Amino acid sequence: MDTSLLVIGAGPYGLATAAYARHLGIETVVIGEPMGFWREHMPRGMLLRSGPDWHLDATDVHTFEAYLAERGVDPADVDPIPVDLFIEYASWFQEIVGLRVRPELVTALRRRDHGFEVDLDGGGQLSAATVVAAPGISHFTNIPHRAVAHLPEDRVTHTCFLTEVDRARDARTLIIGGRQSAFEWAALLADAGVDAVHVAYRHDTPAFAPADWHFVDPMIDQTVAVPGWFRRLSTEQRDAVANRFWAEGRLKLEPWLTPRMPEGVVHRHPHTEVTSCVELPNGDIRAELSTGQVLLVDHVVLATGYRADINSVPYLRELPDLETVDGFPVLDEHMQTSEPGLFLTGFAATRDFGPFFGFVRACPAAAQIIVPEVARSLERAASLAR
Ligand SMILES: Cc1cc2nc3c(=O)[nH]c(=O)nc-3n(C[C@H](O)[C@H](O)[C@H](O)COP(=O)(O)OP(=O)(O)OC[C@H]3O[C@@H](n4cnc5c(N)ncnc54)[C@H](O)[C@@H]3O)c2cc1C
Repeated sequence: MDTSLLVIGAGPYGLATAAYARHLGIETVVIGEPMGFWREHMPRGMLLRSGPDWHLDATDVHTFEAYLAERGVDPADVDPIPVDLFIEYASWFQEIVGLRVRPELVTALRRRDHGFEVDLDGGGQLSAATVVAAPGISHFTNIPHRAVAHLPEDRVTHTCFLTEVDRARDARTLIIGGRQSAFEWAALLADAGVDAVHVAYRHDTPAFAPADWHFVDPMIDQTVAVPGWFRRLSTEQRDAVANRFWAEGRLKLEPWLTPRMPEGVVHRHPHTEVTSCVELPNGDIRAELSTGQVLLVDHVVLATGYRADINSVPYLRELPDLETVDGFPVLDEHMQTSEPGLFLTGFAATRDFGPFFGFVRACPAAAQIIVPEVARSLERAASLAR
């Protein structure tokens, strides 16, 4: 085997898990573009919803706050946190823990002997006894096909692929969706000086109020302390967690967006569905709303979020025994899939471990849940080989 542990994906979850594995003395290789999703799929200038206490280190030493302290920055001066600052922190973290990342893509993962083998986009291959896959959310974009089915591909963009606003193309924009990302993009477009942004969504306008995520801290502590904590909650208890999360994340919008959305530019359409969009001969897009209103726009942006579909992660397709439910992998209490030795983390783990695993806050917890089991699995393999 080329390595004991192969981590696929160098976002927050991949980096946190790999760093903790190295800390526990496990030979680890990481494949992926460091913070690739954050660099390529989050807009420049974006501000984070998370606080300064969210970090990547399962040992609680090389935290974001430690990074700020080393640079002599007062956390109050970087609130809300600019996305670039967190990317810089991740680079610092990677360096300080001595994590080398191979900036390649895994194109296929398959079983080989008692472990795994991967193909890399550069043409190479690697074998590993165990694998942690941290694919993030970019494969899971949720597209409302009915509304935009008749639009040419270049007239409609999911927020995941819209990091640079094009003043000419986006002069009059319709955003479908009404949560944080919809209003975040509305603010970015207004900042860029576009003529009009219409935001259409089926629900009430969320409240512009700061989110407070501290309620998740004890839940994440429980997840680490009690194996299988989340899955053993009753349906009502799990619903209560989901509702609390929903109330904080979905029913609130960050108040720092408000001054960036002038009324004459950003038009809100609550309780509204976009029923169809067609391109007219003169190039305008004609969008019909469920209210009967018709809008003429130049571009449609889908702020319609993400929906798990683990089969859409290309490199996992050669693992026929990977069990899934509702698009999520079935995971044991250590985030191990039905393919022994393969672990899946991050958003993919939210069904079995709770919604917090879609955010940086749970990165250290995920590492603490996975890595000791990786160590036990390697130990078992070593004793069988003796
Ligand atoms: C607009 C927006 C704002 C957000 N704001 C916040 C926030 O404020 N706070 C917060 O905690 N979270 C926020 N999130 C959620 C954030 O995406 C997650 O917290 C975080 O990225 C999860 O980390 P991850 O490692 O699971 O996934 P990712 O960061 O997506 O990392 C996965 C990595 O895997 C790589 N990869 C994919 N396929 C392959 C392959 N075949 N081979 C190798 N590598 C591969 C990708 O390039 C990517 O870098 C936001 C998300 C969005 C979309």
